[in-house]
Amino acid sequence: MNVCILASGSAGNAIYVESRRARLLIDAGLSGTDLARRLAQIGRTFDELDGVIITHEHTDHIKGLRPIARRRIPLYLNRSTYAAMTGPQWESSLRSALPLEAIRWVENGHSFAIHDLVCSPFTVSHDAADPFGLAITDGRVRVGIATDLGFVSGLVLERLKHAHLLILEANHDEAMLKNGRYPWPVKQRILGQYGHLSNGAAATAIEHLVHADIQEVILAHLSQENNRPDLAIEAASEALDRAGRLQMPVSAAEQHRVGVMREL
Ligand SMILES: [Zn+2]
Ligand SMILES: [Zn+2]
Repeated sequence: MNVCILASGSAGNAIYVESRRARLLIDAGLSGTDLARRLAQIGRTFDELDGVIITHEHTDHIKGLRPIARRRIPLYLNRSTYAAMTGPQWESSLRSALPLEAIRWVENGHSFAIHDLVCSPFTVSHDAADPFGLAITDGRVRVGIATDLGFVSGLVLERLKHAHLLILEANHDEAMLKNGRYPWPVKQRILGQYGHLSNGAAATAIEHLVHADIQEVILAHLSQENNRPDLAIEAASEALDRAGRLQMPVSAAEQHRVGVMREL
């Protein structure tokens, strides 16, 4: 399986995953033009995609949905997410832009297959209608993805624990956020149970998730305002050290640059 993070952060998220028979995007949080450009950088195109999985309705995950819908690429999402992003309080014009025949309904807790990839969505705690993280396997290796979550529940640990590649949110450094210039209600939202994971919370999870076959950890959805890659990596490295795996590669996904294609 190959995995490439096309963009990560509050200005837009998209992860490309491919196996021998399937090519997917997880989230489409950049404009259609930007997504196409970043796919081209790794030698891929929209038209080759077998599906786009939408984890939740926040703008940084669905910005590029219209051009994808126009191309009739199958969209995998759950009913609450669909209702939230097409409801009156959101962007009701999306309803007409998303053809129902292109939608494949998914349900948190129920695995679905896209060709040879088995995708298992699991509930995460975040202020969206019915957000999920994902475990994906081609039967040989597993990728675990959890960004946009306020805390790491027992369920999240359970679903991520066998991942060979772990992509985990490290949104903010708690001190930077608390001392930063965001208004208090926004700070409260980010720090809360339905917000985003701190470097410290990510590090604690990583310590629990390290196992003999894990190959790499990528920290994701870093705040450009309340975090720095070196701080996130340092926290994760300390956790790996405590788990006896200091040599394992750990990096931070970027907002403005396509990541390296990981071959698992
Ligand atoms: Zn997000
Ligand atoms: Zn979100």
